[in-house]
Amino acid sequence: MRFTAIRLLACLGLVAATLALSPTRASGAAFTVREPQAAPCTDSVGPSSPPPSAASLVSGLPGHHAQLYGHSGRPVLCPGSTATATIAFHNSGSLGWYAEGAPLLLGTWGPEPGQDRSSILGGDGSSGSPATGWPRADRAAIQPVPYIGPGQVAWFRFAVKAPATPGTYRLWLRPVVEGRQWLGEAVEWSVTVKTGDEPPPPQAAPPARTYLPAYSGGVRSIRVNVLLYHYVDAVPDRSDALRVDLTTSPADLEEQLLYLKAHGYTPVTTNDIWWTLDQGAALPPKPVNLSFDDGLISQYDNAYRLLRKHGITATFYVTANLVGREGYVTQAMLREMAAGGMDIQSHAVDHVSLAGATPEAQRYQACSARRILSEWIGKDVRHFAYPAGGYDESAFDALASCGYLSAYWTAGGSLQRSDRTLLLSRERVRGLARGAAALLVPLSR
Ligand SMILES: [Zn+2]
Repeated sequence: MRFTAIRLLACLGLVAATLALSPTRASGAAFTVREPQAAPCTDSVGPSSPPPSAASLVSGLPGHHAQLYGHSGRPVLCPGSTATATIAFHNSGSLGWYAEGAPLLLGTWGPEPGQDRSSILGGDGSSGSPATGWPRADRAAIQPVPYIGPGQVAWFRFAVKAPATPGTYRLWLRPVVEGRQWLGEAVEWSVTVKTGDEPPPPQAAPPARTYLPAYSGGVRSIRVNVLLYHYVDAVPDRSDALRVDLTTSPADLEEQLLYLKAHGYTPVTTNDIWWTLDQGAALPPKPVNLSFDDGLISQYDNAYRLLRKHGITATFYVTANLVGREGYVTQAMLREMAAGGMDIQSHAVDHVSLAGATPEAQRYQACSARRILSEWIGKDVRHFAYPAGGYDESAFDALASCGYLSAYWTAGGSLQRSDRTLLLSRERVRGLARGAAALLVPLSR
């Protein structure tokens, strides 16, 4: 007991010194990428948090619990500069944290929305993250000592690197007992990147999020129109009625995008919808999710171009085995679309219905597609659309066991429910109606 207390005090003293000496500038000019004639630029750091009062610390809660203890100041950096940050968590639970077995890590947690994401500020060089020595792209640090007992404090240190573009970059951090549970509240962390020694640029206001799900009987529900498209191409010969019905011409799609903007709709992603159902977070008013199935080449050629032109994010459900075939997108196109802000998600390995397939086949279709697509685009794929809308009970098990958070079929109106996240609803935009008129039916469902 005494030994533990002494070790704790030694640890506190050591890191208190670290906090007091929080980084005030980058470790060296070699890390600073600047034009030769750029204005002078000096890294700085904001105030660190005050030490917690003894009365504010909670101890001995049954199980694993963590409480924010303190953090170093938020850095203000020149583009390309690096800085080291410290965040400390108090073990307020009854169980210790063991580095061997199930270590405590500092995870990334993005409340707006999703979690477990790589960050532009730091990482291990994978999944689009810069290499700043993190244990993983979505884990900033691992517990620094083999054992942190109840009442002790875990001090996480991690390096961040300022992106090249000025602005304020947020990182939400939350301790996680790896493989078991997330602890405590996520802590918002930010790095401001400036161009020179002048006030940081003002931030663009994010869209107001004021539209909350209803909550009744333990179930959240919210109306979100999710629109389903296939071909975005010249309308084919009228004799092919099925193909006509699956086709929206580029001119019609543009008219529909303009209609949605003019009528106050705000595009949201699969993660936005899942997060509001899972966590009760608000969406912007009149949310709409545009989705494009199968990875057709016309979606890259036409839809992606129009979406970018109008600043609209959409979801593309891609069938992994069709990628690279004639008439379908390539891996390079998928990477470009993902880097361009599009939401790339899974439409199975092969374009086959999961309904009635064996559990093994369902797991293969779901798990392999998630792994392959995530590798190709360097982002985590967590959402699914059932090919041909086909599903059954064991398909739900397959998706959940592969880590999917939500799945969509091809009908069902606009009411999305938290007890049916693996059966969310979409409505087709049918090619038999033209222009913005084609939206009126799906938007009214
Ligand atoms: Zn499909």
